[in-house]
Amino acid sequence: MEVVDACPVCGSGSRSLLHDGLEDRIFFCAPGQWNLYRCTNCGSGYLDPRPTPETIGIAYDSYFTHSAPEIADTGGGLGTVRRLRRAFANGYMNWRYGTALIPVIRAGASIAPLLPSLKRRLDLRFRYLPRASEGSRVLDVGCGNGTFLRWAQKAGWEPYGIEPDAKAAEQARGIGLNVQGGSVEAVRDYNHFFDAVTLSHVIEHLHDPSETLRQLRQAMKPGAHLYIDTPNLNSLGHQRFGRHWRGLEPPRHLVLFTRPSLTELLRRTGFDEIRYIKRTEVAGHIHSVSKHLCQGGYPYPEPKLFPDIAARVASMRGLLNPDHLEFVTVVARASCSPAKRS
Ligand SMILES: [Zn+2]
Repeated sequence: MEVVDACPVCGSGSRSLLHDGLEDRIFFCAPGQWNLYRCTNCGSGYLDPRPTPETIGIAYDSYFTHSAPEIADTGGGLGTVRRLRRAFANGYMNWRYGTALIPVIRAGASIAPLLPSLKRRLDLRFRYLPRASEGSRVLDVGCGNGTFLRWAQKAGWEPYGIEPDAKAAEQARGIGLNVQGGSVEAVRDYNHFFDAVTLSHVIEHLHDPSETLRQLRQAMKPGAHLYIDTPNLNSLGHQRFGRHWRGLEPPRHLVLFTRPSLTELLRRTGFDEIRYIKRTEVAGHIHSVSKHLCQGGYPYPEPKLFPDIAARVASMRGLLNPDHLEFVTVVARASCSPAKRS
């Protein structure tokens, strides 16, 4: 265990206790009770004390899922409606991301932008990557079994991954991806090398997110694309479910961000053109899981025949309160001037 006497995001020592005695009720593999503090300077949350980089592995004993990535785009064997839907989606993806997916209806390129929810789902699949040019390289930190990298590869990107879980890394390599084992520290080997870097549900697991972003900025070319997705400490779900909110996930989530605290960190570590994505679809799931945690049950509810109306309402409310969505989802650009040391 290690003591955390300053906010890992901004370095301030000023804080208030948000929740005490938190336990791992998601994967049930981490022993102990955990205190979450909120930094009164930047608004981020952080655990103190917390597992060290050497002991954190215990908390991941039953964490990872190991399944081969599912990439289906041919539409083979689907019913007519689903096949048509897929052909429209492929039309959009081919136009926007430069893939060559079939079957395809080219009009999808014009239709998907009129359907914000469909467009967002497809853009999230590619994490809003720009169009690849010859030799464009993307790094996915914490790439798991490589699902995203496979899509990026189909869009013409040269895929690189870092994955601490040996089994997941092996699976990604098994489908021909260039994946390095070990921690994010591996990124130190690269200098102005990547045209895009993505972290999906990774930054909240890092001991020193500020230093990691600096290292990533160094590994990126000026103007490169960054994508981050992470739970939002200011979410409606956290306001409603408090210590039972799914996003807390102690002790694996060491740091929890808000839109303002992540913006501040990105600016300080050398990123600009920061743009947030209104990712509303996840609210229903987070809401259902948090409700089960609140009732003391197993967190993963069985799929229901009828949709959970309250969860649907939670998704809708997120649209009206973008600062309070369940996830902070952001794209940014590696600025063309060097990062400032603070
Ligand atoms: Zn702070």
